[in-house]
Amino acid sequence: MAKIVDKAMWSAGPVFIVIAIALVDMCVLAYYLVVFPYNHHWFSEDITLLGKLGIILTVLFTLYMIYCIHFHYYMAIKTHPGGMTDTVIHGTEDDSTQYTLLQYEENAQYPKICKKCHLPKPERAHHCSVCNSCVLRFDHHCPWIHNCVGHYNHRYFVLFMTYMVLSAAYFVIFGWRPFIICLDIANPEWPYYFPRPLMAFAYILSICMGLALGALCAWHYYLVLTAQTTVEFYNNYYEKGIAKSQGEIFVNMYDFGYLENIRKFFNIGEKYAWYTVFYPIPIPPQGNGRHFEKCQEFYLLPETVQQDAILANQAVQDLEDVKDL
Ligand SMILES: [Zn+2]
Ligand SMILES: [Zn+2]
Repeated sequence: MAKIVDKAMWSAGPVFIVIAIALVDMCVLAYYLVVFPYNHHWFSEDITLLGKLGIILTVLFTLYMIYCIHFHYYMAIKTHPGGMTDTVIHGTEDDSTQYTLLQYEENAQYPKICKKCHLPKPERAHHCSVCNSCVLRFDHHCPWIHNCVGHYNHRYFVLFMTYMVLSAAYFVIFGWRPFIICLDIANPEWPYYFPRPLMAFAYILSICMGLALGALCAWHYYLVLTAQTTVEFYNNYYEKGIAKSQGEIFVNMYDFGYLENIRKFFNIGEKYAWYTVFYPIPIPPQGNGRHFEKCQEFYLLPETVQQDAILANQAVQDLEDVKDL
């Protein structure tokens, strides 16, 4: 049964993408054909030079937001989250074969083989039953991008949601008056090249999409700040409870503190300045997604506790896959 659902989800992937793009671009049209002309009057007689400058800046800002949404959505779809058969190691093209990868992992400190695809499984990797392969630093499978969210595309996924939520909020705030007007059926005046029912639909959709994505986005920022994936969160939560009941301190081995975690996630500092977060350009994540730096607090723990934590991390990789809809 689960296999049928996975197969159906995989086959429906492109349909989800088409629906998502159609809905987003319908809201874009509603903005430029209704909300924008309602709020800005370029040809008005009493518009000042400052007013015109404001309109130009509004156009540039909204175009930037729309471009960022589409760019990050495209990158989240097109960027492979990272798998064991990838030819990219340390960020460079390599002709490595499965055999090389096996050797590579054999040398790793805690080798583990995936029971489903029989390939070495590095720390934080997880098998996705929809994609039917292991994914590096797996977070979850998302049908809306017809892809897994993992090491190489998690950044694009988070930024896509961020721009979506901000744009939805902008549309809801500035589209409020035109929305009220479009609901007033008694008033036949509607001087816009966009159907009234569609305007109402776009507005309500923006509220719903903004709230749903806002919650998911906030959740992902929480995970980023605490250096966890969705899969790891549940395990860490469980381990934290056990540690607390035994009077011990739980240490997430990948947690370097909020600031450092967010810096690592967005790859800020070494090669890229902080403001590159606002650039709609491809920026790879830090590291190769196969091995992860561990915090000092972790190494200060007794060796047996360290071993247990690593074993728990490996065990969580075998849990059922995490998907969202
Ligand atoms: Zn696998
Ligand atoms: Zn997947």
